[in-house]
Amino acid sequence: MSARDLIQTFSLSELRQGLAVTLRYLFAPKITIQYPEEKTPLSPRFRGLHALRRYPNGEERCIACKLCEAVCPALAITIESVEREDGSRRTARYDIDLMKCIFCGFCEEACPVDAIVESHILEYHGESRADLYYTKQMLLANGDRYEAEIASAREQDAKYR
Ligand code: SF4
Ligand code: SF4
Repeated sequence: MSARDLIQTFSLSELRQGLAVTLRYLFAPKITIQYPEEKTPLSPRFRGLHALRRYPNGEERCIACKLCEAVCPALAITIESVEREDGSRRTARYDIDLMKCIFCGFCEEACPVDAIVESHILEYHGESRADLYYTKQMLLANGDRYEAEIASAREQDAKYR
């Protein structure tokens, strides 16, 4: 051991350096937040929970064109379509398996009628795989519940395009 190392050891210089760092951060502004009461800002590009939207008159936007199903790289979307009595086409089944989804946003990019969207909702969970299998009814319920927020977020997005 060199004389320099000996001096460092007996003067506890490394310990003092470590304590100096602790002291510095003790008085520095805190970057931790009290979640869930406090939240950090979300990027406008954040992609969260999926939702199926309706028009203001309550009609489903989705026209069962299956573009989202075709473009999904994770094969997470399953659609079955039916023809209504008036000749229009709608989905009989629209499921998204969120365990497969990689939140790439391709489905909403592909949708010609702005029906499937990824909201900014991130506070959801599942206790089993089945809980994260979203059916058409669940996706429409998400859309109904968060429509105001989704519409406002899309207005903001349009400003950046
Ligand atoms: S976000 Fe991507 S992976 Fe998820 S359902 Fe849409 S297209 Fe598929
Ligand atoms: S959500 Fe959009 S892209 Fe997907 S089937 Fe419906 S209309 Fe077509």
